[in-house]
Amino acid sequence: MTHRLPYLFRRLYSLLSVPTDDMELVRAQLQAFARQIPLLYCILAINALAVMFTFAKFGHHWLSIYAPSALCLLCLARGIAWWRIGRAPVPDNVAIRHMQQTNRLAFFIAVAFTAWGLTLYSYGDGDAYAKAQIVFFLALTTISCNFCLMRLRSAALNVTLGGVAPFSLFFFFADDGHFRAAAVNLALAAMGMIAILMIYYRDFAHLVASRRSLLEKQAETQRLSDENSRLANVDSLSGLPNRRALMTRLAACSQDADALPIAVVYIDLDGFKDVNDTYGHATGDRLIDIVARQFARALPKGAMLARVGGDEFAAVISASEAERDAKSFAAGAVAALARPIRIGDRLVQVGASVGVACAGPDARDAQELFRRADIAMYHVKANGKSGVRIYSRDLDIERQRRQEIEDQLRRGLREDEFDLVYQPIVDAVENRIVAAEALLRWPRRPEGELPPDQFVPVAETSGLISQLGLFALRRACEDFLSVDHVKVSVNVSPAQFRDPNFELTVSKILAETGFPAARLELEVTEGYLIDHPQRASGVISFLKTLGVAVALDDFGAGYTSIAYLQKYGFDRIKLDKSLVDRVTTDKTAGVLVAGAINIANALDMAVTAEGVETKEQAYVLGLAGCQRLQGFLFGRPMPLAAFLACDAAAQPAVSAA
Ligand code: C2E
Ligand code: CA
Ligand code: CA
Repeated sequence: MTHRLPYLFRRLYSLLSVPTDDMELVRAQLQAFARQIPLLYCILAINALAVMFTFAKFGHHWLSIYAPSALCLLCLARGIAWWRIGRAPVPDNVAIRHMQQTNRLAFFIAVAFTAWGLTLYSYGDGDAYAKAQIVFFLALTTISCNFCLMRLRSAALNVTLGGVAPFSLFFFFADDGHFRAAAVNLALAAMGMIAILMIYYRDFAHLVASRRSLLEKQAETQRLSDENSRLANVDSLSGLPNRRALMTRLAACSQDADALPIAVVYIDLDGFKDVNDTYGHATGDRLIDIVARQFARALPKGAMLARVGGDEFAAVISASEAERDAKSFAAGAVAALARPIRIGDRLVQVGASVGVACAGPDARDAQELFRRADIAMYHVKANGKSGVRIYSRDLDIERQRRQEIEDQLRRGLREDEFDLVYQPIVDAVENRIVAAEALLRWPRRPEGELPPDQFVPVAETSGLISQLGLFALRRACEDFLSVDHVKVSVNVSPAQFRDPNFELTVSKILAETGFPAARLELEVTEGYLIDHPQRASGVISFLKTLGVAVALDDFGAGYTSIAYLQKYGFDRIKLDKSLVDRVTTDKTAGVLVAGAINIANALDMAVTAEGVETKEQAYVLGLAGCQRLQGFLFGRPMPLAAFLACDAAAQPAVSAA
């Protein structure tokens, strides 16, 4: 039992003091009290005045008037103080101070008024009514004060302790127990009130807690919804805004009639897909992240950069010099990718094709601006990539033309509108046909025949080249299957190398047609080699294991040195017509060609000269060590039947040229 005493004291002490662990509750109490406490003091003062009025006639004014007046003044002061606290928010420590003061004062004022009432009682000799008024005053006041203080349990209990306890004790014994029943009555009523108070207070605290948790939930919901809308507008890989965010910004800029000029810059990475295919997605992701940061560094102030697709970025620039800013940002983006990027222990190289569109008085529409920048970017892509292009109307016409050709190519492949023609390639010494270069033609195009240098580039950018190239390969193999003594050269576009199944498809076609690999040569241009040396040498070495020869087409049109090409293991290089043309007229060109042929031969690569049109050229090239010659001098590209007829005549078709 004894060891429980400290616990009971602690419990009693905590019941009688202000709980400060829940500030939400303290603030709620303060709010409620700001209006209830002045009311409480009002009741107290009015009740006291009524008693003063009755007891003034018994004299003892210090007790009946001055002391209660002082207490009433104290009540008035406290009432005004609480009124002024009002409902304005106060700092936590101030709120706690107010509540603790109220708690202490509750006890003090209860004791003071009870002591006054009980003392006065003994001066009301002979006047039972006056005495009854004291009983009535004390009981009623205690109960109504308790009522007003319900929200602060400790204060209500303090009033009970300081008011009801002495009252009940006093009247239990006073006046021969005349008021014993009233004393017991008030004590019981007080107990009942304490029970109700405990319940009410618990509910009140609970209400505050649930309001808090509701607010917390609301805040959490708000936070989640903010997070959701952030995620909906952010690209998770690069951390940049996404297309939706950019379009929102662009729409906002373009709707504002007297806003600043706007420019849209659209960037598409060149060769990103190859990095992804060759090194895997993790490397591709790192690359996107690095590139995004490089672009962001070049971004003008106040502009927004977004990642709008896998390897596409776009910026919206709204500034008084939007066009100038856009151009310099675009140039910066291209320059940023000029050097290879290090990712782990790899160096990868990508480029940037950039389109710029500026809003003129005719077009502030967000979608239209975006489209224009995209068209300009597409134009860079279709014309050799890596560079900047500003939108102008003719790009739309050009784009339209390419789109039409693309649609027609699709139809052409479906409807069998394509054919191959073959150009003889002759041995430089023996002057007889040793090979044929297969060249695509589109004779059954309803809109009229289109030369390959117009439709092949469209097929390359639209991805249709894979299908078209394989058609050419299969057809050439079928056509020459039984022409044992003639080798066949088929052109392969760099875009076909990008197809990871390319080499397997080649071996499949060889197997299906039964064409001997040793009689097939594939001609590739250097573009792909420089951009993607690893993938290119992989494909080339695989083709060589099949037994297929690989030739470098258009040598001399680019910048590559022969030594650089050697590591790819080319079997042959084909001198470009532009070099051949100058061989007889330009001394330096002659020396250059002779040198190139020597080096190639020394490196175990044979040489074919293309575009040979005169006997003189044929003579000079033959002397320089060229093994094979090809050109109008020996025959134009011709249908299979014509080719076979030429071949059968065992005569180069010189006369036909
Ligand atoms: P290319 O591979 O350099 O083909 C040689 C081009 O030079 C052919 O043009 C041919 O007709 C032309 N040519 C040959 N000898 C002479 C000559 O003595 N004088 C002149 N002026 N021209 C000569 P063509 O057939 O118009 O083909 C143009 C380009 O189209 C080809 O250049 C090639 O890059 C592409 N191409 C043609 N067929 C295919 C194909 O099946 N696949 C791929 N990927 N590209 C092809
Ligand atoms: Ca060729
Ligand atoms: Ca060529």
